[in-house]
Amino acid sequence: MNLVLLGPPGCGKGTQAKRLEESFSSVQLSTGDMLRAEVQRGSPIGKEADAVMKAGRLVPDAMIIGIIDARLDAEDCRGGFLLDGFPRTLPQAEALDAMLAKKNLHLDRVVAIEVDDEDLVLRVSGRFSCAKCGAPYHDSFKRPQVDGVCDVCGSKEFSRRADDNAETVRKRLDAYHTQTKPIIAYYERKSLLSRVDGRGSIDDVTEKLKSTLRQATSC
Ligand code: AMP
Repeated sequence: MNLVLLGPPGCGKGTQAKRLEESFSSVQLSTGDMLRAEVQRGSPIGKEADAVMKAGRLVPDAMIIGIIDARLDAEDCRGGFLLDGFPRTLPQAEALDAMLAKKNLHLDRVVAIEVDDEDLVLRVSGRFSCAKCGAPYHDSFKRPQVDGVCDVCGSKEFSRRADDNAETVRKRLDAYHTQTKPIIAYYERKSLLSRVDGRGSIDDVTEKLKSTLRQATSC
């Protein structure tokens, strides 16, 4: 299946996309992860994206559209894909339609995960992850069972995203409200949109997403 997960920063898109990959045999395509990998590599794209990401703004449409256009041609996308963090603007949504049509593909469903702004600032500014396996944690809501040791792989190394601080989160939320939210109506007009309440435990939200997607796509 070809899916899009929409939602504000900190709504759980990345965590949920990883959990849905298997159930819907779709590979997660996280544009945030792709850009962070470019920054790590020190590539020309990474150098351009780094400052923009740290400022909580969106990278230029043409840059991200080019990355996704090339990524969708990879072998592992043949069985389906789950877009996480793309599209994020109306021009990106229109470009996605055009590139899918060119590739003879279509979207099966778009899901918007909804969480209030106040909850998001709290969620994002406390999150960190295992530097080795990526398991997600939170200072207040989900600490490792043994402090300083990853529950999943036992690593003692953790990392925090450079843009996960309260000030940058507010700017990322502004970008979401002004630039990304209009695409919810865009997909609603195309009768592709489902909404899921993103409050509750990670497991609860996964279950809500799975049942919403199964109902909407009869899978
Ligand atoms: P994320 O991991 O999805 O929260 O993305 C982290 C940052 O990467 C965002 O705040 C943007 O600066 C950049 N980014 C990710 N996806 C996009 C996109 N589709 N369009 C523009 N910028 C993006």
